[in-house]
Amino acid sequence: MRAPGGGRAAAHARLDLATGHAPRAVHRIETASRSIRRGGQVPPSDPGPTAPEGPGPGPGLRRAREGEPLTTLDGKIPPYIQKIAQRDPFAFNGRQVTGGLSTIRDSAWVMSWNCERQPHFKAQPKDQIVIWITGQQDDRPGDFVKKPMRECTGEEITREWLYHLGVPTEQIPEIAAKSAICLPCIMPFCTAFFMPRRTDDRPNIVPEHVVNFAFLGQFAETERDTIFTTEYSVRTGMEAVYTLLNVERAVPEVWGSAYDIRCWLKSIAVSRDYEKIELPRPIMELLDRTDIGGLLRKYGVV
Ligand SMILES: Cc1cc2nc3c(=O)[nH]c(=O)nc-3n(C[C@H](O)[C@H](O)[C@H](O)COP(=O)(O)OP(=O)(O)OC[C@H]3O[C@@H](n4cnc5c(N)ncnc54)[C@H](O)[C@@H]3O)c2cc1C
Repeated sequence: MRAPGGGRAAAHARLDLATGHAPRAVHRIETASRSIRRGGQVPPSDPGPTAPEGPGPGPGLRRAREGEPLTTLDGKIPPYIQKIAQRDPFAFNGRQVTGGLSTIRDSAWVMSWNCERQPHFKAQPKDQIVIWITGQQDDRPGDFVKKPMRECTGEEITREWLYHLGVPTEQIPEIAAKSAICLPCIMPFCTAFFMPRRTDDRPNIVPEHVVNFAFLGQFAETERDTIFTTEYSVRTGMEAVYTLLNVERAVPEVWGSAYDIRCWLKSIAVSRDYEKIELPRPIMELLDRTDIGGLLRKYGVV
């Protein structure tokens, strides 16, 4: 998953050159209508700002999401990454290393991490790797670090991650201290993206009768598109300009993956790591008499 915006990248680079791991929750990224604040700590008891009405999850349901960029500084951690990803993180060949989020099933924090295409930043030194770590349950004690994730420093989060990577426990403190820099970020509004939405939750980009302003971004309504994508924001900007200025230009169509059975089948195959479904022979014979059998085979589902 790509990190949003350049702000965090720049801050991360800054930290890289400075003292090392960040203290806990150095950044607070609020993805709804609020801006990014830097340097503030989130007190452990702070439930975060009230969820926005509408697209927000509502009282009691809102859960902050925590995500941390981590930079490895030497050759100690990358072999563990390679062992799991089966790809050399230093190949720098334009390929993803983990190919999406790698979720640690047994992690109390429900930790996921991914190692995208490297180098992640233009100025990234050749001997460093940038990782993205997230936790869905940041209020539970970890498996190695017995503290809630949201109370942890970057070094403590690194320790927990190394534990799940399989680093021998006696080596963890030193490797976490010297071989990585981790910058914790709490995103109190992040789950707002994932909540169910109704058509009237968000304002239309150009509401009826409006001639001189528009709503842009993830919390404006545009037909059929899915939020949590940069495409969505770009589309809202195009729609706003074309509508307000009467520009006769079409906004690029939303890709109709939700209605395309081939996309569904491909997704099933990928989500099963291409492990084929064993169907009883009589059922398969029946399916093979129809187009469905051919499609299931073509996309690797059976
Ligand atoms: C962890 C995470 C992973 C993601 N991964 C992906 C991905 O893989 N692919 C993908 O397509 N999308 C991804 N996204 C979503 C994508 O990053 C966002 O949808 C996109 O950045 C939104 O762009 P935007 O320009 O609408 O808003 P933003 O990038 O949020 O920009 C809004 C800007 O407005 C500024 N601002 C806010 N209030 C004020 C104010 N009052 N005055 C002045 N400035 C203000 C903010 O500081 C910010 O710079 C991800 C998001 C997150 C949080």
